Amino acid sequence: MTEHRRPIIAGNWKMHKTVAEAKALAEAVRRGMEAIGGVDVVLCPPFTSLAAVSSAISGSKVALGAQDMYWEAEGAFTGEVSTGMLMDAGCKYVIVGHSERRSSFGETNEGVRRKSAAALSAGLCPIVCVGETLEEREKGIAHDVVREHFVGAVEGKSAEDVRKIVFAYEPVWAIGTGKTATDEQAQEMHAFLRGLMEESYDLDTALGTRIQYGGSVKPDNVAGLMTREDIDGALIGGASLKADVFLEILTRVAG
Ligand code: PEP
Repeated sequence: MTEHRRPIIAGNWKMHKTVAEAKALAEAVRRGMEAIGGVDVVLCPPFTSLAAVSSAISGSKVALGAQDMYWEAEGAFTGEVSTGMLMDAGCKYVIVGHSERRSSFGETNEGVRRKSAAALSAGLCPIVCVGETLEEREKGIAHDVVREHFVGAVEGKSAEDVRKIVFAYEPVWAIGTGKTATDEQAQEMHAFLRGLMEESYDLDTALGTRIQYGGSVKPDNVAGLMTREDIDGALIGGASLKADVFLEILTRVAG
């Protein structure tokens, strides 16, 4: 992580927490964050808890994010939520292209491109997820997959827009499995991704864009990951569901 890229840690709560549980967790994170600085923190609860978490963190350093969105502004799109609705609920961030959306809900690179474009034009920061499956890594095509995810997401976007995106490299084989990529594996793919940014845009864009790592990040592995040059933060699932564990991660990143 370099000085001009402020670390960013996001908690992806996935399909967990009632409204009351979400509010309690957000309040605990908010309280804990009063003693922690130098790191951007984003909580991404399910849609049903966005409003409650928004009021729980209001006026604090903690930001709100959603887990998905649709690119149209409004209309007959049953089950979908627009960027305007997310902003109205207090969101500043939105996760786009999470591997669970890609594998279980048919998310495509084209969808990721459209969603991230709509998020940017609404003023929301997209957290764009890229990453290969175990099968793809074993076949030796991990870089091709990450390239496709990256190119698919940024197609038609300006360098200025790309710098506003937070990318998350999440090897699918490390998500929710307890199997973290080694610091070297993560750094290697982050450097590759940064190289793609330079190739598609320029060095300033490559050096100015934040890339999170995601996949079984915990208090005992986060510090090692964060010492790596191209790792600017983490997207955290399981370990973001308990306030003490999440705050321990934030403390280690800040310290
Ligand atoms: C995620 O949901 O993006 C994730 C990385 O999950 P976990 O931390 O549980 O592996």
